[in-house]
Amino acid sequence: MAFDRALDPTVDALNARLRHATPQEILRAALRAYPGKLALVSSFGAESAVLLHMAAEIDPSIPVLFLDTGHQFGQTLDYRKVLSARLGLTDVRDLRPAFQDLALKDPKADLYKTDTDGCCDIRKVQPLDRALREHFDAWITGRKRFQASTRASLPVVERGEGDKIKFNPLANWSKADLDAYVAEHDLPPHPLAAFGYPSIGCWPCTKPVEEGADARSGRWSGSEKIECGIHTPRAAHPADAESIGDGI
Ligand code: SF4
Repeated sequence: MAFDRALDPTVDALNARLRHATPQEILRAALRAYPGKLALVSSFGAESAVLLHMAAEIDPSIPVLFLDTGHQFGQTLDYRKVLSARLGLTDVRDLRPAFQDLALKDPKADLYKTDTDGCCDIRKVQPLDRALREHFDAWITGRKRFQASTRASLPVVERGEGDKIKFNPLANWSKADLDAYVAEHDLPPHPLAAFGYPSIGCWPCTKPVEEGADARSGRWSGSEKIECGIHTPRAAHPADAESIGDGI
C-alpha cells in the first residue's frame, strides 16, 4: 500500500517540534526516535565535517554511510579516513555498487560518459536504498537550503525515498554558520576545498568553480543534472510498504 504523503502525522509532529531546533537538538531527537535504526549519510565532501563533528560529539558510534562509488577522488577517500579518525567515529560503512550491476550495465566503468543518471543509479541510489532497506528506518542528511534552488524549501524532517524518515539538521544553516562552526572547532578541510571545489562528488562529474559562483555549479557542469538521485522521490520497495513505523 502506497504511503499518503499528504497525511503524515509522524513528519508533521516531528517538524512541529524541531522546526526551530538547533542541529544538535535535531540530532538528539532523531537518535531518541529511532534507536539503532538511524544512519547518517555523508559524502565526506567540502562541508561534511560540521555535521559529522556534531554527530560524533553526541554518539560516535552512529552508523555513517559513505557511498564509495568507485569514482571518488583519492583525496576524498583519504579525507574519509583522516576525518573519521579525528572525530572518533567508530562505525563508518562504505556502500559499494553491486557487482552484477557493474558487470551488466557498466563493465568498462565509463557509463558516466553517456548516462549520468544510470551511473548514479547503480553507484549511489541502489547501494543506499539497499542499505536503508535492510538496516534503517530513518537517516540524516547534510543538505542545506542555501546550496541550490532544488533545496530552497527543504524541511527539517521529511518522508524520504522508500518512505524512510529523513532528518536535515542543517537545513536552516547558512554558509557563514558553517564557516564559524569549522573555525570554532578547528575542523580539517577537505584537501580539494583550497583548489576551488566547494562541492565535491565523483571526479568525472565535479569541476572547480569560480569564486562567488553557486557552490554546486561544478557538479555535472554543462548538463541539466543537478542532483545525483538519492533524494529524488521514488516508490517504496515492496518490503518497506508494510513496515512504515511512526518512530516518535
Ligand atoms: Fe557516476 Fe558521476 Fe554519478 Fe559518480 S556522480 S555515480 S561518476 S554519474
